Amino acid sequence: MRPTIIKDIICYITRPDRHNLVCVKIMTDKDVYGVGCATFQQRPLAVKTVVDEYLKPILIGRDANDIEDLWHLMMVNAYWRNGPVINNAIAGIDMALWDVKGKLADMPLYQLFGGKSRTAIPAYTHAVADNLEDLYSEIDRIRSEGYNHIRCQLGFYGGIPDALHTPEDPISGTYFDQYDYIRKTLHMFAKIREKYGESFHILHDVHERLFPDQAIRFAKEVEQYHPYFIEDLLPPDQNEWLQMLRSQCSTPIATGELFNNPMEWKGLIQSRSIDFLRCHVSQLGGITPALKLAALCDSFGIRIAWHTPSDITPIGVAVNTHLNIHLHNVAIQENIELKDSTKKAFPGYNEARNGYFYPIDAPGIGVDIDEEEILHHPVTYRPHEWTQSRIPDGTLVTP
Ligand code: MG
Repeated sequence: MRPTIIKDIICYITRPDRHNLVCVKIMTDKDVYGVGCATFQQRPLAVKTVVDEYLKPILIGRDANDIEDLWHLMMVNAYWRNGPVINNAIAGIDMALWDVKGKLADMPLYQLFGGKSRTAIPAYTHAVADNLEDLYSEIDRIRSEGYNHIRCQLGFYGGIPDALHTPEDPISGTYFDQYDYIRKTLHMFAKIREKYGESFHILHDVHERLFPDQAIRFAKEVEQYHPYFIEDLLPPDQNEWLQMLRSQCSTPIATGELFNNPMEWKGLIQSRSIDFLRCHVSQLGGITPALKLAALCDSFGIRIAWHTPSDITPIGVAVNTHLNIHLHNVAIQENIELKDSTKKAFPGYNEARNGYFYPIDAPGIGVDIDEEEILHHPVTYRPHEWTQSRIPDGTLVTP
């Protein structure tokens, strides 16, 4: 096969809505270019520096056809490997190379991967409110749009405490009380089941806000409400507790959005400690490692629910849809409705319809970058308050 030479690589950062987004464009010597998502919204300039200063110089002049070799070259070239900055930078390029390949083959990515496993992938979205009445309204609105799976949360992660018993002069931060959160969340599940029965699937994200003993108690007590899955009961450095947790109840466990090193998922998969892997494709390093990870999960009976939050470009959402249409062991796709400004900056976005994402049939990924439009949305940064999460005595805990 005739080589497809990489001529240029451009990394863009933009903020069309409330998050900083990072994306990559690769130009080739043929009349074909590719785009990829490299979003690390809290550290966009760090990712751009890795692409511009370190990856671009080793890739210019190489054959874009050799994705497997280029991925390994990018991963080991710095000797020190993995981590969100490097992995996202590699992922942006990896996705762009797959986009080039799809366009050269005149095939959408899911066809390039091996074709469909399903007609469409079920989508879930988030219902969030500060009280039950407002949450019911959110659930009703979302169900009227055709969703059969809804992530239900009362307040922000960790919930909204009625009254916090803090020491005098508390240090600044986002406070929550774990015991109050558990009590209110269990009550929320009970009330939703009382009102709606089992007419839709409830998902919930703990967002690593509990200590191990609390996580086990919560998982056991929520079991009776048949959640579709409970996400991130614990932070990744406490993963070993998950096997003990699942030996005590059948509550489906989902985790993985923070993982960026194979050592973080290998043991969990091998020991069948989880039900759903929630990895973030750009955080892994792109499509190339995601396909391998999904195959590993498949052989151990673990299903995939790729993390698809609002801090991801429409390119990244489309990549997830291609993977989800193709991979046999994907269960569901997270969906957060995009603002028109984001859709305008990334033309070609494929929206969910009636609670499903359908195959994207344009060649490659099927989403583009409007290079003029993104210039209208410069990135901004302020220290994140929500990642300064504290329990009542002022101890900083994982966000
Ligand atoms: Mg999550």
